[in-house]
Amino acid sequence: YDLRNEDLKDLRELGQGNGGSVKKVEHTPTGTIMAKKIVLIDAKPAVRKQILRELHIMHDCHSPYIVSFYGAFVSDPNICICMEFMDKGSLDGIYKKTGPIDVEVVSKVALAVLEGLTYLYDVHRIIHRDIKPSNILFNSEGHIKICDFGVSGELINSIADTFVGTSTYMSPERIQGAQYTVKSDVWSLGISLIELALGRFPFSDSSSDDSDLSDLEGTLSPARPGSLALPTGRSRDSVLAEQKKQKDKRNKRKSKGVSLQGGGMTMSILELLQHIVNEPAPRLTPDGRFPQMAEDFVDSCLLKDPDVRQTPKQLLKHPWIDHARKSDFNLAEWASTF
Ligand code: ATP
Ligand code: MG
Repeated sequence: YDLRNEDLKDLRELGQGNGGSVKKVEHTPTGTIMAKKIVLIDAKPAVRKQILRELHIMHDCHSPYIVSFYGAFVSDPNICICMEFMDKGSLDGIYKKTGPIDVEVVSKVALAVLEGLTYLYDVHRIIHRDIKPSNILFNSEGHIKICDFGVSGELINSIADTFVGTSTYMSPERIQGAQYTVKSDVWSLGISLIELALGRFPFSDSSSDDSDLSDLEGTLSPARPGSLALPTGRSRDSVLAEQKKQKDKRNKRKSKGVSLQGGGMTMSILELLQHIVNEPAPRLTPDGRFPQMAEDFVDSCLLKDPDVRQTPKQLLKHPWIDHARKSDFNLAEWASTF
């Protein structure tokens, strides 16, 4: 495909993330339905070109567990990435509609994600870096595929500054600034699987809303250097400066009598990051509600020490994954229920 924005007709909006939005579009010359991701980036033309070059690798990614890539182009001030349209959307949208997802389906999700990660790493030396339910897509044929992997270092840098979120799938080692490895994706998979099976983000209890920057500065005092490295690679000082700015803005708005919802969000994220580093990892259940094999698999994903945590390839040999492979649970039929 030689993609040009003029040839893409908007059909509907599929969703919005931190970095931009995704639309269902039709490529009118061929009639192909696609998902067009629009990423607003603040980068110079040279950097944009570099991003497009880096995205080119996606043309060589062919796997039943990876969303296909049609092409990318610059459409000032955005970069547009066109990919396979998955008609049942992402797994976060699905569980928010249906409630907790059947553990048999969850085992198939684990299998698909591990296969996708193993393909990306073994064939292209790509680490995904953003495994979470919104990046695991599903279609009515019953296929589960991953999308939004970190092929472009420049793209990651350019959108890094927009890091805001209510939940994080980041591994303890990554929060502490260690090098990112395929095992960090395994942690994120473990958190995602619990979220799907329980129908809620596993750390959701730990967020609170009464933020106070002075507390924050206390806990992240320079006495513990390197205790927290945000995913963007920005220094703690620049993050704190940013938060101060936001807090000042909030106070200004407050004094004007405008209420600001989610004002404590930044603080909650930092509390959450500390929780991930300092507290025991979440578990599928403490009460045997799920098959032992499933619980054991999730425990293996969520080993806090990356040295003992297995790689996606090693985990493909886990008995629960073996079970998923042999299971005759019909995903296409399941897809037709919502
Ligand atoms: P974040 O920005 O934090 O990564 P996100 O993954 O939800 O969050 P986007 O990647 O911009 O943000 O995607 C927005 C939504 O669009 C997704 O949640 C998903 O439901 C939908 N979506 C993305 N890609 C596709 C696709 N190829 N087919 C169908 N729906 C898609
Ligand atoms: Mg996404």
